[in-house]
Amino acid sequence: MLEKEQIKNRIETEIFETKVLVERYRELTKPIAPENAIGRVSRMDAINNKSVNDSALRKAELKLANLHIALSKIDDADFGICFRCHNPIPLGRILLMPHVITCVNCAR
Ligand SMILES: [Zn+2]
Repeated sequence: MLEKEQIKNRIETEIFETKVLVERYRELTKPIAPENAIGRVSRMDAINNKSVNDSALRKAELKLANLHIALSKIDDADFGICFRCHNPIPLGRILLMPHVITCVNCAR
């Protein structure tokens, strides 16, 4: 089925991009240098940035996990079916967010 190939390609691209993101956030969330090495103010900046990057990293990791789940389920009979109301999820939504398991209505 052409649609499925399209979705698969989209998910694979998304996995690749998310992996790059995760790598970048991991780099940004490395332990912060001691105060005497970078100065007090820039260390406080670094700590603030780190907490922002930490949550971005967690989000990216979660998305990556969901994408792998989506990819592993692509051949399932219920792929693209809303987890809650069992209506088909529109292709546009799957392509935009391949890791979602609910339709727009149920995601609210
Ligand atoms: Zn639904």
